[in-house]
Amino acid sequence: MAPEQSSSVRAPRTGLLIDWGGVLTTNLFVSFHDYCVATEIDPKKLLGRFKIDPEARELLVALETGKIDELEFERRFAHILEVEPDGLIDGLFAGVGPDTAMVQAVRRAREGGIRTALVSNSWGVHRYPHDLFDELFDGVVISGEEGIRKPSRRMYELGAERAGVGPEECVYVDDLEQNLTPARDMGMAAVHHTSAAATIPELEELLGLDLGSENGAGRPPLEGTPGSR
Ligand SMILES: [Mg+2]
Repeated sequence: MAPEQSSSVRAPRTGLLIDWGGVLTTNLFVSFHDYCVATEIDPKKLLGRFKIDPEARELLVALETGKIDELEFERRFAHILEVEPDGLIDGLFAGVGPDTAMVQAVRRAREGGIRTALVSNSWGVHRYPHDLFDELFDGVVISGEEGIRKPSRRMYELGAERAGVGPEECVYVDDLEQNLTPARDMGMAAVHHTSAAATIPELEELLGLDLGSENGAGRPPLEGTPGSR
């Protein structure tokens, strides 16, 4: 007779909900820091503003929920920072590019039958590579298009809905710890992303697939699920 399984052992998850900035891209804060150094803004001042200055925080929320556009954000945030507004967002994001290992892992997951959705807080909705999204995701949830932002629970519900799976079937990946809490509350497996090298093996375990890590789980795609869609 087979030994009884511990309650922590469960079938692999079938949905993958994933953040964009800082997860499927290179590190945002490195780019922000480089921009600050190049333009002689104190890097601590930039990030500190979002933490301690209610006006800066309000601006960020308004931008992420699409209530103000990028130009208005630039104008008002540049005023707070006492810098020129032109090209502020482009400058901040200049050093950000796709994280190829993470992008490839999502591609492999989807090819392996996992349902996928992007769940992203946006700094302007035109800043995303939409061609890549068609290839990677069954569904897309972008805060500026929905008028809500993470950690609002509805963002995660929409992600699961658009992926076409129940929340309890999902893995959720984000680089900001505070964005993981609603996912956990909904029964998702939450992965705090710090690097592709750490996240991909975790995803392989949770999804039961080889996603390209050095010690890839090497398991075949889930049975009974279509390949790439
Ligand atoms: Mg992020």
